[in-house]
Amino acid sequence: MALTFSYPDLSAHPAYDNHEKILMAEDADIGFKAYIALHNTKRGPARGGCRYWPHYNNDNDAINDVLRLSKGMTYKNALANLKYGGGKTVIVGKVGTTNPDPSFMMALGHALNELQGIYETGEDVGTRLEDFKIAGSITDFVRVRSLEKAGVIDLPGGPPLYTAIGVYHGIKAAVKHKMGKDVLRDIRFAVKGLGSVATPLCALLHADGAKLTVADIDPAKVARAAKEWGAKIGHPDDIMFEDVDVYVPCALGGDISADTVDAIQAKVIAGAANNQLATPEMAEALKARGILYAPDYAINAGGVINVVEIGASHEELIAKLRHIGVTLDEIFKRADAEDKTTAEIADIIALERIASH
Ligand code: NAD
Repeated sequence: MALTFSYPDLSAHPAYDNHEKILMAEDADIGFKAYIALHNTKRGPARGGCRYWPHYNNDNDAINDVLRLSKGMTYKNALANLKYGGGKTVIVGKVGTTNPDPSFMMALGHALNELQGIYETGEDVGTRLEDFKIAGSITDFVRVRSLEKAGVIDLPGGPPLYTAIGVYHGIKAAVKHKMGKDVLRDIRFAVKGLGSVATPLCALLHADGAKLTVADIDPAKVARAAKEWGAKIGHPDDIMFEDVDVYVPCALGGDISADTVDAIQAKVIAGAANNQLATPEMAEALKARGILYAPDYAINAGGVINVVEIGASHEELIAKLRHIGVTLDEIFKRADAEDKTTAEIADIIALERIASH
């Protein structure tokens, strides 16, 4: 096998941000190339998923992605008070495929061994539990809840359920802060995307008596929401402009942009989607409009908490998820006190937690 490892010097790259280590693993015989970026391990070994993505136009796209994502994991893990640093893997996928070959996962296993445990990884876009079973035959450094051995509580539901529970607590904190309400009864929500996170989230909101308007590109999911939760049906293109109290983005990110921000009527934006703001300036635009934004990586940390805290009891996990609401409350209050955006304060708190460790 011609698997090689190298550590390219990317210090001149615009997204470098003082990464501690970047490993390039390559096996030209099988067409395998992966980058593993370790951003910061001050709080502990790096953790962050492994993405398989066949749509990179060139190497720089893949490098840009891995650097940006691994930095994001440092902030997310620190803000969630996890004793881990941030890292990420991207495997450059073969055009026309959606998941990695077994040979790729074996190569990844060797690459993880090369890093000797300073980084562990698991599923992300394009990689599945079954892929990690293959990598797990080569290395101990995969972190997938259902692969864990005896003695570990294997809760049903997996990361999306825990992400949903965390988002729910974040929503409660945001509603309390912005609207002064302790309960969600009759609060109006617009939920975009009815996937694996939004489905349990809507069930929780509905159980609290919230009023839901929903949209998804899949009509069957929308029909189910109408039937199960009495949800009003919105349209994917304008659900974010509904006259509601809370907009809950749970589809893809990036829909809060210069083109859309002025038409948002909600008082609060709090949802699971990653990278909700199309550009960082949108945080300022929302603040200027008096819309309370729950920073995405703060509110959607439940999935990573679930994966990383293997061995924690159900009660411990729930306590950590509830703490997402406490962290958001701290962010909201500090943003008010310091006249900064909630996104800025989330970054500041994450950096403080890294520095003080
Ligand atoms: P999912 O793929 O299960 O669900 C996404 C849903 O959005 C699907 O039902 C899809 O049909 C719908 N959708 C796609 N485009 C749409 C559009 N334009 N308008 C309306 N609906 C649209 O994904 P998920 O796991 O539920 O994750 C949702 C979001 O939360 C993603 O942005 C994801 O990155 C983020 N997130 C997920 C987790 C997790 O644990 N799964 C953790 C953190 C963040």
